[in-house]
Amino acid sequence: MSNTRNRFDHINHRIQQAFNNSGRSLSKPVTLLAVSKHHSLEKIQAFYDLGQRDFGESYLQEAIKKINQSTCSDIIWHFIGPIQSNKTKEIAQHFQWVHSVDRIKIARRLSAQYTGTSKLNICLQINISQEPQKSGFSTNEIASALEEIIQLPNLNLRGLMSIPKPSNDFTQQSLAFHQLRELMEQLNKQFALNMDTLSMGMSGDLEAAISEGATIIRVGTALFGPRES
Ligand SMILES: *Cc1c(COP(=O)(O)O)cnc(C)c1O
Repeated sequence: MSNTRNRFDHINHRIQQAFNNSGRSLSKPVTLLAVSKHHSLEKIQAFYDLGQRDFGESYLQEAIKKINQSTCSDIIWHFIGPIQSNKTKEIAQHFQWVHSVDRIKIARRLSAQYTGTSKLNICLQINISQEPQKSGFSTNEIASALEEIIQLPNLNLRGLMSIPKPSNDFTQQSLAFHQLRELMEQLNKQFALNMDTLSMGMSGDLEAAISEGATIIRVGTALFGPRES
């Protein structure tokens, strides 16, 4: 338990430090998304007891089990994993946020299948480092995709998400995050949108992400330790 507390304090300290160094305005704070994939509900509960409310999951069946068993009704669940199109209904039913929308078809289905009372918060995943194997919209195709996605009635388009190519170099890390931020600003202008979310930065590069304007950082290992399976 003290381990949990230490890691939680340490991450929050890193966030605060990075935020102060960035000179960012306090009006756009950073939300810590605790990535609990492959970790037990007990561990989730331990962070919940320390005040954590946003949790991210990548594997749908594992996530649904935990969501259904959890008694913490004010947890905000974020889906951040790869999406198969036949799973969109369950995702729309169980999550308040979906960060990994990477195809128009997925957006269409999520909107059609969402039955909640407000709208489903989504981020569009961008393949910012243009890696052939990685999912996400390319920077070239995102504008035409947006034309359709912004018409979908049950989605609240919050912003962009990316998992850049890993690097140990702060400058390299910052470059990809900078590109994502510029892309969002450009799309906001072009389509007169108010996207307000940059979901970027993980355990190893959260400082660079925050310095480039991340509003949600997705942290797994640095909070939970190595994944259990
Ligand atoms: C697993 C995962 C994370 C967390 O990564 P860590 O390096 O463990 O912090 C963040 N984002 C996505 C999309 C993930 O799948």
